[in-house]
Amino acid sequence: MSQPESSLMSRLVSLSKRRGFIFQASEIYGGLNGFWDFGPLGCQLKNNLRDQWWHDMVECPPLGPDGKPLSIVGLDSSIIQHPRTWEASGHAAGFADLMVDCRESKHRYRADHILCLEVFYEKAGVKKPLGVLSALEGDEFDTTIIKKAKKLMQKAGGGEILPIEASLAVPFTTLSKEQQGLVIGLDAENVGTLTEPRAFNLMFHTYVGVFQDEDSKVYLRPETAQGIFLQYKNIMDSSRVKPPFGVAQVGKSFRNEVTPRNFIFRAREFEQMEMEFFCPPEDGMMWYEFWVAERLRWWESVGCRKENLFGHVIPENEVAHYSKGTTDIEYRWPFTAPNFGELEGVAYRTDYDLKQHAAFSKTNLDYIDQEAKRRYVPHVVEPASGLTRGVLLLLAEGYQYDESRASPEWLKIKPSLAPIKLGIFPLVNKDGMPEVAEKLYLDLRQTYTCQFDAKQSIGKRYARMDEAGTPFCITVDGETLKDQAVTIRDRDTASQERVALDKVRAYVAAKLASA
Ligand code: ATP
Repeated sequence: MSQPESSLMSRLVSLSKRRGFIFQASEIYGGLNGFWDFGPLGCQLKNNLRDQWWHDMVECPPLGPDGKPLSIVGLDSSIIQHPRTWEASGHAAGFADLMVDCRESKHRYRADHILCLEVFYEKAGVKKPLGVLSALEGDEFDTTIIKKAKKLMQKAGGGEILPIEASLAVPFTTLSKEQQGLVIGLDAENVGTLTEPRAFNLMFHTYVGVFQDEDSKVYLRPETAQGIFLQYKNIMDSSRVKPPFGVAQVGKSFRNEVTPRNFIFRAREFEQMEMEFFCPPEDGMMWYEFWVAERLRWWESVGCRKENLFGHVIPENEVAHYSKGTTDIEYRWPFTAPNFGELEGVAYRTDYDLKQHAAFSKTNLDYIDQEAKRRYVPHVVEPASGLTRGVLLLLAEGYQYDESRASPEWLKIKPSLAPIKLGIFPLVNKDGMPEVAEKLYLDLRQTYTCQFDAKQSIGKRYARMDEAGTPFCITVDGETLKDQAVTIRDRDTASQERVALDKVRAYVAAKLASA
């Protein structure tokens, strides 16, 4: 099957816009980098994935290793919490990269990615410094440097550039302030265009109340998890849960990402689905392994092919100091293929977070186990996934291209997650057909998301539903009034079946349950 020239990502972006899955935020004002709006189909798809996660995590959690259902409860905590929260969690001090801005090109770079080299030239037998030139790590250092050096040389009135030794280049961060002031930025023409390296915290801040000063400064949460730790004690005291148990939360998180990119993969405002599983310290490793396996299984259950998922065990020297194990659940994204990129992180966080919050808030967060007559701070295993990234996965995984179909581009989304479950059409808008179709629609829409469509040819209507990923289309035709039956078309096979009107409900229920 021949494929279009454009990349899968650009096709996903344009299909998303054309069919109302995802739009650029503030598009009429030129957009705002890193922000996205979910349109009619997109928010339905996102809600369905969220509800499935909530169902499988909170309402009907998996069975534990002993065959008994796990105990997991829900929470919806504030986006803005007491600012001490982020001091205790480490986000206030540590959630930062050192960044350098170029005043001329307006580009921003990670300071440790800029390499600098002092260059000399010779004129009338005298060696003179030409300037400090910079290039980005991974760039072709020599070419960049020589091009810039030649320009500078012209300004200096000509001469001979002394051989450049790229191996002598050093990171921008190791230069003195004076030297930093002499550097020519990567995309700049003039000297001294780079600012000093500044810690760039990824948290957005705002102020609470009338006065805007350090005392009223608060942060938009960069993850939902911390809200769970803050309420862990209240939840235990009010819900009769005790370790091992989990608290799950879905909600918006905000990160001022330096380079938001790859559509909704790395956004500045996004949604997470996180669960903190509290357990006795000695069982931490067992639960960590349990959740890694369980989360891989779950992504498969929502329609991800096994070969596109990968459990990447993070090497010990790369995990956070408090973690006793982290596995990233990775997906083969269109822009990483054949490699994988993060979809969800499963981390064994030990008792770090609860101990930090206990110390910073001066609150005792021990669990007192009455039966075993002991007290301890529970250990925590955290499966932290991205709802926004999950939607991108469903689109990428579901995208199909088949030139022989009325709509070559169509979405094979698992029926239970599809934004619209049923398209309901009168074949033509006369002869009693609209009335029957409308009656069916008014009945079925009480149970399923349905779309009634009486415009354009039936082929075009099927094509529109295929692009939206609608699994079944029901057509009322000229025969219906005689045989009291309709045609039901299956999205995946494009095959049609005749079903009696009074059997449609049962047919659809069975199909949706089995698919
Ligand atoms: P990355 O390494 O991709 O920046 P991370 O390790 O910082 O991700 P976590 O802090 O573990 O991410 O957050 C858990 C999940 O939240 C991620 O697996 C991802 O699905 C989602 N997520 C994190 N940052 C973003 C973002 N900027 N845009 C969309 N989703 C995100």
